[in-house]
Amino acid sequence: MLNTAVGLDALEAFMAHRGKRGLSFPQPIEQQFESDTSTRRCQRLTTGILVSVVIYNLFLVADWLLVPDVFWRAVAIHLGIVTPWMLAAVWLISGRPRRVVRESIAASIPLVITLQILYGFAATTSRNAAHYQYVVIPTLLYANIALHRLEFPFALRVTAIIVLAHAAAVVVTGHMSAPIVVMTLAQLVACAYIILVANYQMERDLRKAYLYSLRDRLRHALADAASRRDALTGLANRHHMDAEIARLWRSPHEQVSPVSVVLMDIDHFKSLNDRYGHAAGDLCLKRLAAIVMAELRGSGDLAVRFGGEEFLLLLPQLQLPDAIRIAERIRKAIEATAIPNEGAGPGKIVTASFGIATSCILDLTAEDLLAAADSALYAAKRSGRNRVWPSPADESKGDAGSPPVAKRLPQRQTA
Ligand code: GH3
Ligand code: MG
Ligand code: MG
Repeated sequence: MLNTAVGLDALEAFMAHRGKRGLSFPQPIEQQFESDTSTRRCQRLTTGILVSVVIYNLFLVADWLLVPDVFWRAVAIHLGIVTPWMLAAVWLISGRPRRVVRESIAASIPLVITLQILYGFAATTSRNAAHYQYVVIPTLLYANIALHRLEFPFALRVTAIIVLAHAAAVVVTGHMSAPIVVMTLAQLVACAYIILVANYQMERDLRKAYLYSLRDRLRHALADAASRRDALTGLANRHHMDAEIARLWRSPHEQVSPVSVVLMDIDHFKSLNDRYGHAAGDLCLKRLAAIVMAELRGSGDLAVRFGGEEFLLLLPQLQLPDAIRIAERIRKAIEATAIPNEGAGPGKIVTASFGIATSCILDLTAEDLLAAADSALYAAKRSGRNRVWPSPADESKGDAGSPPVAKRLPQRQTA
């Protein structure tokens, strides 16, 4: 069952008019997106950071080869600051923090790495320094494309900070001649731009694919719910009832619990149809279905449109006396609604008869329990209609609860 505040109509309307409105979704869809993707995002980030810990530290070879005069300082920053922060980030992100916290922690890593690189670049007096600063580009790739792939708003900010910091370091340190500074910065800006475009496109495609998958899930959930409902009354249909019965009878926790079945049949319903027409009959079915629904105790109870004008209540963990009380309340509520049924006789109103059976799941098959409720219903019809069988009077005499109900009920006969 899909549990979401996003409606299919709203989603489809958004998808139809999305156009060039950028990456973000309206609030409910954005929340759903975060809830559906955050676990995977955290896993990807933590794995990506762990892999990059290894790759980042392998880059110490670049320090050793290109800026040997600051190599040991680089080792100290790698192992004393950046690596511990990356491992702390793994720990923090695996705790599934809020989105903004998660993405901020992720964004801090390429920034810290860049600062380490630019510090080495600024501090060295090596004549190979000009080549050392290029390792900022793999950092941009790491932050925006693979392993890390920051969300676009974060990618944009982090990239801007890295490019500005890099430009400042290149200009201030004076390791390069003016033409090389110009070319280095032009190259960096071009790379940053291309990388950001790629990041944007990846995020747009990912979000688009998410919208399609959410739409499919919503459509499927709606179709699934519709396949379990009776279209006229909104009650569960036989297909849903069969599935629920199979689930109950299979459940190891329910074996010794009682389950009650209430079968309800509208009295002289054919006369109502004949007198007022089929549409009035349909309306009556809907009104009675609403009355039945109002008496359910919670999500465990199931109200089913069992047949044309027959409803069934499947009431797990309910003893017979309580089931009788529920049926009696429904019977009285129907009577109180006073829907005219003059076809059944002058001054007559719509009433219903009820047959109830209760058993432990271990003691009886579902078919036998339903057959027992059916027999009880026919007993109610035979004894005058508009009544519950076993009757509340039997219950107060203490007769009603004695098991097994199925064995002591009269056999089904035509009323
Ligand atoms: P009893 O008191 O013995 O139950 O009599 P009854 O007239 O209610 O029973 P019967 O089985 O003779 O008639 C049931 C009627 O229910 C016949 C059928 O036209 C009507 N019916 C079944 N399904 C629908 C439905 O979806 N809409 C409407 N309007 N009528 C329906
Ligand atoms: Mg009937
Ligand atoms: Mg009937």
